[in-house]
Amino acid sequence: MALRSTDILTQTPQGLYCPLGDFHVDPIRPVARALVTHGHSDHARAGHQAVMATRETLRIMGVRYGDDFAGTTQEAPLGAKVKVGGVTVRFSPAGHVLGSAQIAIEAGGTRIVVSGDYKRAPDPTCLPYEVVPCDVFITEATFGLPVFRHPDTREEVRKLLASVALFPERAHIVGAYALGKAQRVMALLREEGYDRPLHLHGAMERLTELYKSEGIPLGETPKVAAADRAKLAGAIVLCPPSSIQDLWSRRFPDPVTCFASGWMQVRARARQKGVELPLVISDHSDWDDLCATILETGAGEVWVTHGQEDALVHWCTGRGIKAKPLHMLGYGDDGEAEPDEGRPSGREESAETAP
Ligand SMILES: [Zn+2]
Ligand SMILES: [Zn+2]
Repeated sequence: MALRSTDILTQTPQGLYCPLGDFHVDPIRPVARALVTHGHSDHARAGHQAVMATRETLRIMGVRYGDDFAGTTQEAPLGAKVKVGGVTVRFSPAGHVLGSAQIAIEAGGTRIVVSGDYKRAPDPTCLPYEVVPCDVFITEATFGLPVFRHPDTREEVRKLLASVALFPERAHIVGAYALGKAQRVMALLREEGYDRPLHLHGAMERLTELYKSEGIPLGETPKVAAADRAKLAGAIVLCPPSSIQDLWSRRFPDPVTCFASGWMQVRARARQKGVELPLVISDHSDWDDLCATILETGAGEVWVTHGQEDALVHWCTGRGIKAKPLHMLGYGDDGEAEPDEGRPSGREESAETAP
């Protein structure tokens, strides 16, 4: 007898739970066993007894929370089937940030894929998204409205370089989330041939080092020393989104405030944040990619975790795909939920706050 999807995965206050395997996926509170899709702090939290994740995600959690972030850890090799209790799990690339994975859970002939966060746009800093055919596809919907269409990231980075060329006496301060977005912007700049140093806010240093140690070429990335700020005319500086408006960024020569986020498509939001040069660079799927991905998985049922759930549920229903919103709380705080919430975890923020 085939299992019902809700026999394999159910919603609990801690997050999605698999009773047959006795584990949670991306739990928002400490649990006995967690399977973690990727290192963003809304998905990867400290304090679980056991954590299973890709090697890169485990390393990222170690950098953010310290080596004792979990009682025990287990590396999930991409593409390999692993038995966990009464189910089989398999991690596959999600194309979101370094080490990000979708988790397929299979039992009794039914396969559910928890995609975590994902994108289809090319990203030189992580493995591309892999379509995993499934019966139930679980997706987020951060940009789940037809108005959201992300442009080619190369064009966005060229805008930044054009501005640097136009204003050689000004510093360009780029707000970007410390995990994933910042390194992607750096890699895109290198792809465009920019070979000068990329100056980093202290909060980005350790994760950027981790990316480099994983073989991602980001070039010279010195940390900004307080005393050097005035000398950085014409330089590109990367900092957490929260720092683009504070005193930290004002110490640079005539700064041009830039912000790399999918939300920068909404000009009113860019103005609100005082962003002079919005860069529409998203680590999430836009509307077209959400819809295309759902179709490619062949899923007959879709669960939408958070974001603009209703539009996507409606779109699925119109195509004969069973769909429901999960209204899950605690997700979306990875720098692209809302520009105003685009702040890194407190730990990173405290890395350098002195003006
Ligand atoms: Zn994420
Ligand atoms: Zn997320």
